[in-house]
Amino acid sequence: MIPWPEVDTVLLDMDGTLLDKHFDDYFWEHFVPEIYARENGIEEREARKKLLDTYRAKEGTLDWTDLDYWSEQLGLDIPALKLKIDHLIQVHPYVIEFLEFLQKSPRGVYLVTNAHGKTLAIKMAKTALSGYFTGIVCAEEIGMPKEDPRFWAGLRQRIDFRRERTMLAEDSEKILLSARSYGIRHLIHVARPSSRGPIQVSSQFPSISFFNELI
Ligand SMILES: [Mg+2]
Repeated sequence: MIPWPEVDTVLLDMDGTLLDKHFDDYFWEHFVPEIYARENGIEEREARKKLLDTYRAKEGTLDWTDLDYWSEQLGLDIPALKLKIDHLIQVHPYVIEFLEFLQKSPRGVYLVTNAHGKTLAIKMAKTALSGYFTGIVCAEEIGMPKEDPRFWAGLRQRIDFRRERTMLAEDSEKILLSARSYGIRHLIHVARPSSRGPIQVSSQFPSISFFNELI
């Protein structure tokens, strides 16, 4: 699926790609509404509906991943709440094996995420993955989310990569399209972002369920 001799830079998304998106789904769709309902004296169902609408309005923007923004908007300490359920932060099966496989090669391996610095810190502390990466880049450093095709030019100012010799693995088709429009050659779709959700194969990109399929 990946012609490894033709790849010298590997870009990897975090949530849903290396880590189980169940944590994020559960956190935003259940845990935060539960706490928000309690704090505001409203029904949990009502809180969930209100919050899901509020989130949707920010999807694909940097605000969506900005924990300080949500702490202020919702009047809750979002980083502290994440820590309360950090046992749900899990590395997907075969990710460690894949990172070890990459580590044995001279390739540059970068974690490239829309996640906010505070989320990244919580997740790296929990999973101990940071040692596997040549570098880590958060979208907030570039100033735009990965969904924006201009993101990749910004990334290239931080990381020296040749787009025709670069691979990106992502669970978001929208981000894969954005990377393709910039000219990143080797694009892999992760079809099983959450351990609790269905496998959703992409019609536009080669899909994998687990990273052992690339080794
Ligand atoms: Mg993702």
